[in-house]
Amino acid sequence: MIIGILKEPIDEARVALLPEAVKTLISWKVSVWVENNAGSSAYASDELYKEAGAEIHQRAEILQQSDLLLGIQAIAEDEIAKMKPSGVLMGQLNALFNPELTNYLVKEKRTAFSMELVPRTTRAQAMDVLSSMATVSGYKAVLMAADLLPRFFPMFMTAAGSITPSRVLILGAGVAGLQAIATARRLGASVFAFDVRQAAKEEVLSLGAKFVDVEGATEDKGAGGYAVEQSAEYLQKQKDTIHEHAMKADVIITTAQIPGRKAPQLVEERTVRAMKPGSVIIDLAASSGGNCALSQPDQTVEVNGVRIVGVGNLAANMPQDASKMYGKNYLNFLKLIIKDGNLNLNFEDDIVAGTCVCHDGKPVNSRIVQMLN
Ligand code: NAD
Repeated sequence: MIIGILKEPIDEARVALLPEAVKTLISWKVSVWVENNAGSSAYASDELYKEAGAEIHQRAEILQQSDLLLGIQAIAEDEIAKMKPSGVLMGQLNALFNPELTNYLVKEKRTAFSMELVPRTTRAQAMDVLSSMATVSGYKAVLMAADLLPRFFPMFMTAAGSITPSRVLILGAGVAGLQAIATARRLGASVFAFDVRQAAKEEVLSLGAKFVDVEGATEDKGAGGYAVEQSAEYLQKQKDTIHEHAMKADVIITTAQIPGRKAPQLVEERTVRAMKPGSVIIDLAASSGGNCALSQPDQTVEVNGVRIVGVGNLAANMPQDASKMYGKNYLNFLKLIIKDGNLNLNFEDDIVAGTCVCHDGKPVNSRIVQMLN
């Protein structure tokens, strides 16, 4: 069985598997073919892949020969068409939000897995790329803010006077938000955080941050630990509370998302205009609608001296460890579908079925089935 690893598009510095993960895969009695220069942006040379036991090939050969094609970003339809009919495609295909690609895969009777569909259950935690990439983004967002801020994060008592610590407000205390809290605390900032889920409060406090309470949030125990949409009345109350805290903040990092929906707007234009000049907002939800009314995906906007950075794929800014985590998630998932050096797809397994977009053209994941109906 041949497992192929392609070079990602030009704006994606990560690679699906680093050489160390390839070495593990090869010990499972499979062949690994890597496109030349696939790991260069993550500082993994072709030589390192060869030392790990992989073969270096041209892209066209890998597309044609692979039994399983591993990637991060989805490849184009004309490249999928070059894969052999039994070849399985795997990546972060964004299948629920890319109906054109999903329909194409179904029409062409393909088998495809989409890593963002991995069920968010305890057993699947070690395969959850959304969580591992959110960890990278939360960390990197704080470093980005610290770099842009014209002030120190920590408190200093110096001969040249005292510096008070910066005040950081984190909106959304999920995986990315908690990592942002921990990183901002390590840099010595005074951190405040807010989330609609009461379960987040304890985690926020345990990291040494203060929790901003807004009473009256709607929670749904059936939402698997995720947030649900809030009433217009609650959202307004929340925006008012955020407004009060934002005026005192030096940095706001927003991470609030609701699976399958537009991100909630938490920071209004009047709030940005009321903030101190020099303050920085990093909006991690910019690509799903933005938590700040003024953020633009992949752009930095300045309003009254407040810089609002709309970040998309922040994980690609730290390609080495992001690829390492991605590869580990992949290996944990592949353990479920590779037996004795061959593909063995057991759809009785909820993780395999939940992650599968379609098998031989038949939709498998229940939300994909629903979407196509
Ligand atoms: P996410 O990226 O969907 O959302 C980020 C955060 O935004 C969440 O904490 C959410 O509550 C918050 N949010 C949504 N609307 C908001 C609003 N109006 N105001 C403020 N905050 C708002 O979520 P995530 O970080 O991927 O995960 C959230 C939680 O899900 C985790 O903390 C964890 O409890 C659970 N989870 C479980 C697993 C697993 O078991 N495998 C994996 C990942 C996450």
